[in-house]
Order: sequence, then structure tokens, then C-alpha cells
Amino acid sequence: MMLKDKVAIVTGGTRGIGFAIVKKFLEHGAKVVLCGSKPESAKKAVDALKKENASWQVEGISPDLTNYDDVKAAFNAVAEKYGRIDILANNAGISSKEPFTSYTEEMFKNVMDLNVTAVFNCSRAVVDKMKEQKSGSIINTSSMVSKYAQPSGIAYPTSKFAVNGFTLSLARELGPDGIRVNAVAPGVTNTDMVKVLPKELIDPIVAQIPLRRVGEPEDIANAFVFLASEMASYISGVVLSVDGLART
Ligand code: NAD
Repeated sequence: MMLKDKVAIVTGGTRGIGFAIVKKFLEHGAKVVLCGSKPESAKKAVDALKKENASWQVEGISPDLTNYDDVKAAFNAVAEKYGRIDILANNAGISSKEPFTSYTEEMFKNVMDLNVTAVFNCSRAVVDKMKEQKSGSIINTSSMVSKYAQPSGIAYPTSKFAVNGFTLSLARELGPDGIRVNAVAPGVTNTDMVKVLPKELIDPIVAQIPLRRVGEPEDIANAFVFLASEMASYISGVVLSVDGLART
């Protein structure tokens, strides 16, 4: 039990990597509030988890993550109910693959709004409570593309480079308050985001991974548990690659 009685908020917690993070946090004794984009998807995820283990303390909320006032009201209610917020996992994110010549301002804005502005909104909304506690752990979901970029879907790699900059800067700013800020950079991971990709695209990627497989959501969630826990008490400002690649 690495997170016993910790109170955690996980965005994008209804499926994929986020759902795995929620489940691992619960297995490690945390009380978890998961955010879904709709009340129905949040409820469905909570019901599935409760069915697996009725004693898990988990609930769902669905603020508009791109709207600060909405997020602040929802997270204030969490702080009020549980008395504290120990962990924020900023995981919700969307990808895009369009070539630059057909990219629109609207597409760019949509990706940046969720992948960057929402990370700001959620972090800003928990920071006063974490400062008051003199402790807290914020973990952002970056991506392998934040190291290597990608030759399409320009907003996605741009957003993940921004997440890394946000992570490092905030770690430096909030360290004196006892708040650690880190990111996890998954490689290709077996979720809906990747299941839609054609085999012709995935096979050459797998061939370059020494472990010869894509990641599972649980591989990524394990890194979140570690970074959220006291085991990582002297780690802040890192972007931890979890991608099966062997390189410096
Ligand atoms: P997914 O599509 O399975 O899940 C995305 C999550 O984000 C869902 O819970 C969804 O409800 C939520 N979401 C989507 N749009 C939203 C919105 N407008 N408002 C609120 N929530 C919204 O994707 P995933 O693969 O689990 O991705 C999770 C994170 O991991 C993302 O930040 C993604 O960029 C990152 N990532 C994924 C991979 C991969 O290969 N799957 C690799 C690197 C990074």
C-alpha cells in the first residue's frame, strides 16, 4: 500500500491510461476522484470499479477541464469533502494526426485547450490546498513525442513539449512549498488512442522497441504510483519515460 489514505484526483480517468491509474491508486489505498468528460462515462467507470471491489473509495465528477471556474468549483468540493488533496494526475488528453497543410486553427486550439490549458487549470485549482498542507504531488501525462516530435498532428507534440516545460517550471516554483511536480512520458500504449492506428504504422514502431511490445496502461500507471508515493519524495521536475526504449 504505497498511497494509503491519500486523496487523489485523476483527469481522463474513465478509460485507457487514466482508468489504469485510478485502479492502481485504489489498489494502493488511495481515495480517488476521477474526472470524466461526461457524467455518464464517469459513472460507468466508477460502477465498474465498485463492482470489482466494493470497499474502494472512488467517485466520479465531470467538470469542463478547459474552464477554470468549473474546475475550481469541482475541486473545491473535493477538498471540502475529504479535507485535503494529495495527488493530482493530469492525464486527460487528445491526439491528432492531420498533416500540417490541412490543420485548422480550431483543431490546434482543441488539442492545446485540453492538453495544456486544462493542465494549468487543474494544477492552479489544487495548488492553494497543497500549499496549505505543505505537501502534494502533481503528475502530468506527457508523451514520447515530447522527446522526438512527430511528423503529423502538429498540436499534439507541441502540447506535450509544453507539458514538459510546465512540469519543470512548476517543480521549481512549488518545490519550496513541499509540492513535487513530475511528468510521465508514455511510449506507444495499448489504449483507444492507439487501437485506431493501422498495423502498418504500429509494426515498425514495435520492431524498434527492445522489449518488442507496446506498453500496457498498467505499465504507465505503475510510474504514476511511484511518483505519487513517498518512494519518490526527492524526485521533482522529471519527465519519466515509460516507453520500453533503451537509450540515454
Ligand atoms: P484515451 O483516449 O483512451 O483516454 C483519454 C481520456 O481523456 C479519457 O478518459 C477521456 O474521457 C478523456 N478526455 C478526452 N477528451 C476530454 C475532454 N474534452 N474533457 C475531459 N476529458 C477528456 O487515451 P489514453 O491513451 O489513455 O491517453 C491518456 C493520456 O496519455 C493522454 O494525455 C495522452 O496524450 C497520453 N499518451 C498516450 C499514449 C498512447 O500511446 N496511448 C502515448 C503517450 C501519451
